[in-house]
Amino acid sequence: MSDSTHRPVRVRFAPSPTGSLHIGGLRTALFGWLFARHYDGTFILRIEDTDQKRFDPTALATLTEALRWAGLMWDEGPEIGGEYGPYVQSERLEHYQKWAHWLVDHGKAYRCYCTSERIKEVNEQKQARKEPPGYDRFCRSLTPDQIAEREAQGLPFVIRMKMPLDGKTVVQDMIRGDVEFENSTQQDMVLLKSDGFPTYHLAYVVDDHLMAISHTMRAVEWLPSFPLHAQIWQALDWEMPIHMHLPVLLNPNGKGKISKRKPPMDKYGNAIPVLVHDFMDGGYLPEAVINFLSNIGWAFGDDREIFTMQEAIERFDGTRINPANSAFPVEKLEWLNGLYIRDLPTEELARRLRPFLEQAGLTIDEDRLLKVTPLIQERIKTLSEAAAMVGFIFSGEIQLGPQTLIQKKMDREGTIRALRAAHDALASLPDFAHDIQEPAMRALAEELGLKAGQLFGTLRQAVTGQTISPPLFETMEILGRDLCLTRIEAAASLLDSVS
Ligand code: GLU
Repeated sequence: MSDSTHRPVRVRFAPSPTGSLHIGGLRTALFGWLFARHYDGTFILRIEDTDQKRFDPTALATLTEALRWAGLMWDEGPEIGGEYGPYVQSERLEHYQKWAHWLVDHGKAYRCYCTSERIKEVNEQKQARKEPPGYDRFCRSLTPDQIAEREAQGLPFVIRMKMPLDGKTVVQDMIRGDVEFENSTQQDMVLLKSDGFPTYHLAYVVDDHLMAISHTMRAVEWLPSFPLHAQIWQALDWEMPIHMHLPVLLNPNGKGKISKRKPPMDKYGNAIPVLVHDFMDGGYLPEAVINFLSNIGWAFGDDREIFTMQEAIERFDGTRINPANSAFPVEKLEWLNGLYIRDLPTEELARRLRPFLEQAGLTIDEDRLLKVTPLIQERIKTLSEAAAMVGFIFSGEIQLGPQTLIQKKMDREGTIRALRAAHDALASLPDFAHDIQEPAMRALAEELGLKAGQLFGTLRQAVTGQTISPPLFETMEILGRDLCLTRIEAAASLLDSVS
C-alpha cells in the first residue's frame, strides 16, 4: 500500500554504528517502523559506516541487539538481506564513486585538489576578516589545463558539490512545511573523500534512491544540510523521497540535547540512561520504553498515553508529529515501566526477573521465584530493583547487624527475649501459612508488651537482613519454617554475643 504519494512506502533507519544505539536513535527507528507498518510498507535497516575513523567492529551486533530487544524488526537489512542489498555502506562504495564522477562529468560537481593545509589557511584568513569559515571554491574555477596538470601529477582530490551561488533553495518537509535557505549561505561540501569514501550527503542520496526509499525520516540535525541534499537530488535528476525531520530529545530540564558524553541527571542527581543498552541493563521493559518513546514528539490522541504498538500502528500516519524538540520525562518512564511490570502475568515477570537476579550472583530456585514474584510485582519500577529486595530469599547468607535488630524503644535483652519467644511460637504452629503466622505473632507481641511493629521489625531484620522487604509473613512462608527458625536463632545468638 502507499500513502498519499504514488510510491510503495519504504522507510529506512540509517544509523552510524558507533556503539549502542542512543535513545534518540531508537525513537527515530520507532517512528520509521510505525510509519512503515501503518502503510503496510517496508522497514529497512541500513548501516552508515562510511566514517571509518569512528568504526567499531562490535557496534553492528550491539545495534541489532538493541533493535530486536525493542521489537523493531526490519524487513530488509543486515543479517536478513533483501533485494536492494548490500545494506552496509562500506560494501557499496562503487555506487557512490560512480555517481560522484557522474556529477563531475555533468558539470554539477568538481574535483578539489586543495590540501588540508591550504584549507586551514583559508579559514584562518576568513576568521581574521571575521567571515564565516568555509572552503573558498578555489578549484571550482580551475581551467581544463590546470586540472590536467594536477591529474598528471597524480594529486589526490575530493569531489565537491557545485552549489548555486545566489537565489534560494526551498525544501519541503512533511512535518515542518517548506523551509527556505539562501544559497549564498551554503558551502560546496565534499561528496567524495580522497580515500574514495563518500560523505553522508552523497551516500544517503544514492542509497535512498537505489533502495527506492519513499520517506526519509531522520533527526532534525540534518535540516541545515537539506538544501545541499535537495541540490544533489536535483542534479542527479532523481525523485526525492518525502523528508521528515524529527525533533530531538532534550534533557529532562528541557536544556540541551540528550548526550551520552554528558549524561543527564534526574532530580536526585542520578545519571539517566541514554543508550538503549543502559535501559536494557537497568531493567526497563521494552514495551514500556517503546510506549514511552511514542509519546515524545508524537501524540496518540484522545489524551491517551498508554497504548499497544498495534494501536499506535493504526494511528501512525505521519501526522501529529510535533516539530518542536521535547524534553525527556524520565520519571514518567519509571512510572510507566512500573505499570507494565504490574500488568505482566506472574510467570512472565519471573522469567524476566531471573537474569537480573542471576547477575546479582544469586542462585535461583524456580519455585521460590514464582512465589516471591507476586509479592514484589506491585513494588518494583524496574527489574533491576528486585535483587536488592529479594536477594535474601535465594542467598543462604544474610548480613545481620546487632543494632538494626533492636527496634525503637527496645533494648538488647528485650529483643533477644522477643526473638526466642517468636522462635518457639513459630516452631509450634500447626501450619506455617502466612495467615496462621500473623495472628500468632500479633498475640505474642501483646503478651510481651510490645507493639506489633516492634516485633515484626525485629523478625523482618532477622529473617531478611533488611529494613524493608516484601510482606513479612508471606516472605517467611516462602522461606519455609526451618530457614526462618535458623535465622531467628542466629539473630538471637548474635545479640547474645555482643553483651
Ligand atoms: N547515519 C546518519 C546518522 O546516524 C543517519 C541520518 C539519516 O537517517 O539519514 O546520523
